[in-house]
Amino acid sequence: MNKIQMVDLKGQYEKIKSDIDAGIQEVIDSTMFIKGSKVADFAKHLEKYLSVKHVVPVGNGTDALQIALMALELKPGDEVITPVFTFIATAEVIALMGLKPVFVDVDAATFNIDIASLEKAITPRTKAIIPVHLFGQNASMETILKIAAAHNLYVVEDACQSIGAEYVFSDGTTVKSGCMGDIGCTSFFPSKNLGCFGDGGALFTNNDELAEKIQSIANHGMKVRYYHDRVGVNSRLDSIQAAILDVKLRHLDGYTAARRNAAAFYDRALANHKDIILPVRAADTTHVFHQYTLRINGTKRDELKKYLESKEIPSMIYYPVPLHLQKAYQYLNYKEGDFPVSEYLSGNVLSLPMHTELTNQQLHYITTTILEFWD
Ligand SMILES: *Cc1c(COP(=O)(O)O)cnc(C)c1O
Repeated sequence: MNKIQMVDLKGQYEKIKSDIDAGIQEVIDSTMFIKGSKVADFAKHLEKYLSVKHVVPVGNGTDALQIALMALELKPGDEVITPVFTFIATAEVIALMGLKPVFVDVDAATFNIDIASLEKAITPRTKAIIPVHLFGQNASMETILKIAAAHNLYVVEDACQSIGAEYVFSDGTTVKSGCMGDIGCTSFFPSKNLGCFGDGGALFTNNDELAEKIQSIANHGMKVRYYHDRVGVNSRLDSIQAAILDVKLRHLDGYTAARRNAAAFYDRALANHKDIILPVRAADTTHVFHQYTLRINGTKRDELKKYLESKEIPSMIYYPVPLHLQKAYQYLNYKEGDFPVSEYLSGNVLSLPMHTELTNQQLHYITTTILEFWD
């Protein structure tokens, strides 16, 4: 049995090596390293895959979130609501733009933004909501969009972990993750569900005017070369990354299926254990399993993690400290106890190896070892 990894990028690459290598070589031969046709081609293909009008590739997922906030022209002091249980980037860009991050708790079952807490956090200064589709499952977007419409708020989706996940509205329409709000943001960080071989990210929107603004902001605020209409940034996906992503996009649905198969194996093997709570699949969304995250009852999570390590099984804690308890965000004056669900999750979640190359033999070994821990 091969050594088990959290993410197996090498095994995935081996299977598509000739296509990837040819794509990279093509870019090298063209020497169009920046803004080559590969980037435009990939954006077109991703627009088609997502059924969204505009995909604007940028340097990484964090840039995508920042550019989204810049495009919405929020003013210093405006409040932006985001879940407190997420990767730091979501809150970081809010703070960086001089806006006020307003944290809300998450739902213990789905790990996504809790609707009741969201509604309570809205004030006259609230201008936007950034729901995060954590671990590969969409937040309750139908309700979030209704709340946003009622209060005249923008919605920026953090779809960095959820590319390809489909949200099902109550009228039966399905829309891909990141394509429901005003702007969606994703990351192509290597370990993401659609990952490149370096940094990359993109914004999605169906709004022509926002798309034009986003294009301009990402490109030094210019449309006509050397004429700068606004203060922008420099954030671009390079052609080599685009060539890699264009190949991998063709396999994305297959990759998602492989992740779901691994999740189904975990579900079956770990079902009905009194100390293990399996990931809950919300009824209104498909799950693309960026992470397969258990909740471990009681206080043995860290001991279990160590035990797995001793058996050469990696596992990870996403996330060990909710954002309101992070040193950098103390200035917001939150305190321990403010977000009990997120605090509980930080102490009890454990993410198992999840990638496209897991074999049944590996999954069997992982799950039997987990059960052994309690014997
Ligand atoms: C990965 C990630 C980001 C940031 O993406 P980068 O490409 O690493 O900048 C933002 N939000 C979430 C939820 C993420 O998982």
